[in-house]
Amino acid sequence: MSDNHYDLMILGAGPAGITAALYGQRLGLKTIVFGDIPGGSSYMIEHLANFPGLTEGTSGTQFGTMAFQQAQKEGANFTLTRLESLGHKDNVFVGADVDGQAHTALSAIVATGRVPKRLAVSNPNLRGVHFCSICDGPLYRGKNATLAVVGSDNTAAQHALTLARTADKVLLICRSQALKMDAVHKNQIKQQSNISLMVNTEVSGYNGQESVENIEISEKAKGRKDLTVDGIFLAIGWRPNLSTLNLEVQKTAEGYLETNDKLMTSVPGLFAAGDVRDTDMWQVLTACADGARAAKYAAEYLEKLTQG
Ligand SMILES: Cc1cc2nc3c(=O)[nH]c(=O)nc-3n(C[C@H](O)[C@H](O)[C@H](O)COP(=O)(O)OP(=O)(O)OC[C@H]3O[C@@H](n4cnc5c(N)ncnc54)[C@H](O)[C@@H]3O)c2cc1C
Repeated sequence: MSDNHYDLMILGAGPAGITAALYGQRLGLKTIVFGDIPGGSSYMIEHLANFPGLTEGTSGTQFGTMAFQQAQKEGANFTLTRLESLGHKDNVFVGADVDGQAHTALSAIVATGRVPKRLAVSNPNLRGVHFCSICDGPLYRGKNATLAVVGSDNTAAQHALTLARTADKVLLICRSQALKMDAVHKNQIKQQSNISLMVNTEVSGYNGQESVENIEISEKAKGRKDLTVDGIFLAIGWRPNLSTLNLEVQKTAEGYLETNDKLMTSVPGLFAAGDVRDTDMWQVLTACADGARAAKYAAEYLEKLTQG
């Protein structure tokens, strides 16, 4: 077999992918991990306070780095690049890396997470459109900024509250009257004097030369108008990161990978772990648990394959 042939190919180096690599390595599988950011989305977590054992919590970046180093120490093989495509032919998974080089494996775990949705508006790619208040909010510190947050759930509330610490004014723009956030967040928003809640309001465009300078909004019963803002933060949902997959596989109505109770997808030997699959919790802990289980079931699958 060639040097580029593996027992297990892992896509994604977030909590799910790193844990799968750690377990795969310990199970004796020849493993390769494709992933651009060690720790994946966890770098966006300001303070990871809900992971058992980390009694004081830690930053997501620190967590991701520690997990990555732990898997490396165990011998896991990280490329630190993305996989460009993953196909399946004659029961072998074939991946092409960024240089067009082929890598093959008898099993694969997709742990590519999910990405935030964007608004379908004019000038969608202007600078100043953000998805993470913790990461990009500090860009506006000390600038007397007015920032818009679009969304109505707990994530939108958290963005608004985070930004209210450094911005002059935060406009929380919600499409409907009904807020999807919990009562604790509703109260916190109400009590924060520099957050203005705008319900029944839709954002229909961004204007500006290079960066967003104002946004067009339509308010039910009031019509359209422009609002001057320095930046806009979107919290309107997510979609699974599956553009790499070049094979037929069953997905949920929302596009997440469907898995059985052993985390195997409809393609034999293809497993899914973490935020990319049909889970009901999008957390570091559950992603790690998925990664461990997917590696275990991939090892079981490989064992049956060689026996049978
Ligand atoms: C702002 C924010 C705050 C959060 N706070 C918390 C919290 O306090 N506690 C908590 O438990 N969870 C929190 N989460 C959720 C947590 O970060 C995720 O649930 C977790 O990171 C999911 O892990 P994952 O490995 O499934 O995916 P991810 O962490 O998203 O990792 C997937 C990685 O795969 C990469 N990838 C995609 N396509 C490819 C490809 N083709 N080839 C290679 N790599 C690819 C992606 O770039 C990404 O880096 C938060 C998330 C955000 C955004």
